[in-house]
Amino acid sequence: MSKRLMIIGAGGVGNVVTKKCARMDDIYEEIMLASRTKSKCDQIASEAGPVPVRTAAVDADDVGALVKLINTFKPDLLINVALPYQDLPIMDACLETGVHYVDTANYEPKDKAEFEYSWQWAYHDRFKEAGLTALLGSGFDPGVTNVFTAYAAKHFLDELHYLDIVDCNAGDHGKSFATNFNPEINIREITQPGRYWELGEWKRTDPLEIHTSVDYPRIGPKDSYLLFHEELESLVKHFPTIKRARFWMTFSQQYITHLQVLQNVGMTSIEPILYEGVSIQPLQFLKAVLPEPSELGENYHGETSIGCQMRGIKDGKERTCYIFNNCSHPEAYRDTKAQAVSYTTGVPASIGARLIAQGIWRKGGVWNMEQFDPDPFMELLPSLGLPWEIVVDGKLAFNGS
Ligand code: NDP
Repeated sequence: MSKRLMIIGAGGVGNVVTKKCARMDDIYEEIMLASRTKSKCDQIASEAGPVPVRTAAVDADDVGALVKLINTFKPDLLINVALPYQDLPIMDACLETGVHYVDTANYEPKDKAEFEYSWQWAYHDRFKEAGLTALLGSGFDPGVTNVFTAYAAKHFLDELHYLDIVDCNAGDHGKSFATNFNPEINIREITQPGRYWELGEWKRTDPLEIHTSVDYPRIGPKDSYLLFHEELESLVKHFPTIKRARFWMTFSQQYITHLQVLQNVGMTSIEPILYEGVSIQPLQFLKAVLPEPSELGENYHGETSIGCQMRGIKDGKERTCYIFNNCSHPEAYRDTKAQAVSYTTGVPASIGARLIAQGIWRKGGVWNMEQFDPDPFMELLPSLGLPWEIVVDGKLAFNGS
């Protein structure tokens, strides 16, 4: 079953997904890694194997250029770990060339800090007619969090009522301010109004308005902020019994203070300004001076903990279920020279692609992760570096590692 895989985007996540897929010599015969900057691809390729990794430069906003590159390499499937702006052009190129598609973040227009699935769901019929699979959001959150939810709904709950996705980074990279994934996308996400689902409607909050202390396994209590996160949109659609769904993320006081100052002076704005006669977007300029996520790994200490805290009904009785993964920054670095945020995104992307390549998760159309059987994905997570645990009614029920 030798397959050819193309990966777009040679950033923090691209590094992990390329290295993980290049170790799957039972599946892939050759990989191509393409990004805007070829030297970044070359560096990653030089550390990856045993599957050979070819590299190329491409601007994925240019559908024609991408179609040409795809036609020279002839991949069976493509993993998009560039930026959310490239989702639609890359999906267009996949449709034109007959290639399966995987990504880790939903589409976002460049000129509006807004993200939702409608743009990508609109491709469903075209992918279905072409017999091609498009798997959306195969990172950790979205991604593994959708699979954790589907796994609980399949094995532990008859009806899922309450869902809290809790995301903690208790790591320290030693920099005064840096983001763990693309700074532009990260800052756009957290400076937006918050939103959560309750009793059939979206409730809105001011950015970072609501926070509470969440007790994370082996880490302890951490102040966690309510954000809108894209998996909430697909999960409440696919699990209509959900009465309330929220997403929480930790930020240190130092991070919040830096962010507030940057916001107050206008550095997080996406409205273009004229600087010495040149139009620049303040947030893109800020991204250019911040550390790249791929540079943070080397001296990163501590761990992340991301999971789904769920409550519902089993056999007529109320039941709680918490599924989570803790990932150590130094162990992620030892495995792939990446910090844990890139690692926890790249590993699930490699699993989603593997399941499509094997035909286990393959069907024509555009799908979110929870629409497939969660079991094969959960089985692969520990062996690829992300063990998980389940606590049911307060007791450890299963250790997936
Ligand atoms: P980085 O900024 O480190 O990397 C992005 C890469 O995309 C860069 O190498 C960049 O190339 C490349 N790129 C950008 N624009 C283009 C283009 N037009 N054509 C080709 N390549 C392009 O970001 P991350 O690796 O941290 O994040 C990658 C993706 O993963 C993002 O979409 C992010 O939202 C998503 N993500 C998802 C998570 C999840 O859990 N689901 C968590 C974390 C991230 P160059 O360097 O040459 O400019």
